[in-house]
Parts: sequence; C-alpha cells; structure tokens
Amino acid sequence: MHIFFPSRRSKDSFILQGEELRHFKVRRIKKEEKVGIIWEENLYLCELEKAGNKEAKLRIIEKVETKKPTVRITLIQAVPVELRTFETILQKSTELGVSEVVPLLTERSFKNREAMGKKRERWERIIREAMKQSGRPYTLELKDPVYIEELEPKSELNIILDNFSNGKRVKDLELEGVKSVSLVVGPEGGFSKSEVRRFTDKGFIPVRLEPHVLRSETAAIVGAGIIVNLAGP
Ligand code: SAH
Repeated sequence: MHIFFPSRRSKDSFILQGEELRHFKVRRIKKEEKVGIIWEENLYLCELEKAGNKEAKLRIIEKVETKKPTVRITLIQAVPVELRTFETILQKSTELGVSEVVPLLTERSFKNREAMGKKRERWERIIREAMKQSGRPYTLELKDPVYIEELEPKSELNIILDNFSNGKRVKDLELEGVKSVSLVVGPEGGFSKSEVRRFTDKGFIPVRLEPHVLRSETAAIVGAGIIVNLAGP
C-alpha cells in the first residue's frame, strides 16, 4: 500500500499537496485503490475522491490499528565519517521502531556540527520516507549532536556496544520487561579505550555481539533489532 503525508485534514478526508501530490501522481493510483495516510501519529486507510492540479482529496475509510514497540529505544550513534552510512542507520532505525537517535561526536566520528545542521532537512526526509515505506505512523525523534560529556544514562538499561569487551554478551542481558534502553554505537574506526571508559564510568554496560567485528551500521541495526524484539513488558 502506498502511504502519503497530507497537508491538512477536513472532516472526513485528507488533502495532498506539493511534493506528496507529485508522488501520488507518479504512482498512478486508481480510483478504487486504497492508500494509507499518516496523520498525527496515526495511519488511515483512504480512497481517492478527486485529484486536481493543486491538490488531491482522499476520503477516510477507517483508522488502521498499528503497533508500537513496548520498549523505548534511544540509539546514541557516533556519526560515521561517511555520512551516507548515518543515513542508512536513520532509515533502518525508523523501520525498526527506534524512538530517538542521538548523533554522537567522538574522537573518530564525523565532527562538523555545522555540516550536520545543513543535512538535517535531508535526514528528516529520510525518516519520513522510511515511515511511509514501513507503515510506521509515529515519528523518530532526531536529536542535536552531543559530546560524550553531555550524555547521562537515562534509560532503564544503558548499553555501549563494544567489540573489545570480554564481559557481557547480548544474550546475557535481562531484556524481558525492560521499558527503555539506550544503545551506544561507535563510528567506523571504533571508540578509543578512554572513550569506552568514560561511558562505563557513567554506568553504561559494555556488551559484545557475536561472533565477529561488525561495521558500525550493522552493529546499530542488529543491536536495535534484537532489543526491539526481546525487550519490553
Ligand atoms: N575498527 C574498529 C571496529 C569498529 S566497529 C576495530 O578495529 O575494532 C564500529 C562500532 O560498532 C564499534 O565501536 C562498536 O560500537 C560496534 N561493534 C562492531 N562490532 C561489534 C561487536 N562484535 N560487538 C559489539 N559492538 C560491536
């Protein structure tokens, strides 16, 4: 099903304009075809009432029941030097139901805050596209970049993924019943030893994924995927 973001709602219909109207037209949606609309964190099933040059009107058939993870995942992701990798992480995090992504600035991460500011609109668009693709009606909150010293463990379970850790494996974690998890992932070049120590001093638990060293994006996606499926009440 194709999903769109409308510009506004009238009583029993939604109005598509601008870029979303263009997308709608490119898809050549037929009159009898059902489409999805994301509005105020809900998904609606709609059908085309009329399409003009400036706008299309979609009549609401019903509100669709959608799922939301029972665990709140905060992904604290060191920004990869290759910014495209960060975009992949944003896209996959949205699909996986991650609640928020905090871009982290570290010794070996991408560090230019101004350049990241300029990307913000593009990143928001990637999140919106992933919401449409996956039928996720609630937003992923993209925070402003932070340094390690600005972070405090704020979830019930606070983890740093560390491939050098010889402590806990992910299967040693007690995930059942946990309502919020913060997950820290390093950049392509990894964290320095002192950075990992700063996190563990704050109370983040070092955890390793088996069996090999993963790329930053693989670690983030696998970590979030495991947590969203195993944690929660
Ligand atoms: N170049 C580094 C690897 C960095 S991988 C090295 O040689 O060690 C990038 C990040 O992904 C790491 O900082 C860590 O947070 C995460 N990661 C990768 N593989 C992992 C694993 N097996 N277990 C836990 N975390 C892992």
